[in-house]
Amino acid sequence: MSKFWSPAVHELTPYIPGEQPRERLVKLNTNENPYPPAPGVEKVLSGYSIDHLRLYPDPESLALRHALAKEHGVEVGQVFVGNGSDEVLALAFQAFFRQAAPLSMPAITYSFYPVYCRLYDIAYRTLALDDEWQVPLEAFDVHSGGIVFANPNAPTGHGHGRDAITRLLERVTECVVLIDEAYVDFGGESAIPLVAQYPNLLVTGTFSKSRSLAGVRLGYAIGSRELIEGLERVKNSFNSYPIDSLASAVGIAALEDREHFDACREKVITTRERTRRRLTNLGFEVLPSQANFILVRHPEHDAAQLFVGLRERGILVRHFNTEALRDFLRISIGTDDEMDSLIEALETLVG
Ligand code: PMP
Repeated sequence: MSKFWSPAVHELTPYIPGEQPRERLVKLNTNENPYPPAPGVEKVLSGYSIDHLRLYPDPESLALRHALAKEHGVEVGQVFVGNGSDEVLALAFQAFFRQAAPLSMPAITYSFYPVYCRLYDIAYRTLALDDEWQVPLEAFDVHSGGIVFANPNAPTGHGHGRDAITRLLERVTECVVLIDEAYVDFGGESAIPLVAQYPNLLVTGTFSKSRSLAGVRLGYAIGSRELIEGLERVKNSFNSYPIDSLASAVGIAALEDREHFDACREKVITTRERTRRRLTNLGFEVLPSQANFILVRHPEHDAAQLFVGLRERGILVRHFNTEALRDFLRISIGTDDEMDSLIEALETLVG
């Protein structure tokens, strides 16, 4: 506690995103990609001229924004980049959601959204998920100060298709609809093609999951020029984009390798479905997922105890200590070998 802190800072408890293993563990707790980034990334790193580091990066991050614009079929003025999508989301909350009416979000979604609300003094309302653990898009209030959700949602893994998103955007026109697509590449359907039609739609994405680049911190937003200008107004760091030259070069190399991208995400999807079947056979309920993780619970076994049992066997998964999710474990999809170790450990714990 400090008398110098803003009131909202007193209420914040530091978020520890996931235990960083010191021993050799099977790490299935923070939804990283188990496969390496595209081979071109290694080439960029080994051939990188040290002299680039002496100079400031391009203040407009044009090369990276061009590469993203090309990838998503939009113009460069419709692309914003930041240090991970967490930073982009933080800027979006500041730019668009400090409104008279409260922001709306699902009651179960990415845990950072309420944190940003408290930090930036944004009032918010939550919407219960439906019986199938899906975000009930039709229940979002058109008079909200903004709408935010992850699609596919986290940590449930369910994603709505573009038609459902279109119906939402036809109805909600007076506030920003922010769709966080951190996990979309694992079987979801992106809303990016809709930004041309709906000036209030902002879609965020990340290089941390499907591009295997969580370590460099690269995220982006795609939307109308009007929304990108809003984000540009609130970003700081000497009025320039915050991306360093090295991250930019690495991100571009990752975008250039479509074959590697497709191969890795297909492997993750295949492993996810295989894991889903095997856990179902062990008596788990596994929520259908379009992401690189699954949310599971066992009717007879306490999730907190399973978490500890797995930890003792060198396997890290995620257990949320919230009322709604207490019965569940969230398991990131690793390699087939890692998932075999998981299943083996669970066989002894629930068998
Ligand atoms: N959105 C969601 C739903 C997430 O789960 C995460 C990662 N935990 C992020 C955004 C942030 O990802 P990053 O900052 O690595 O881009």
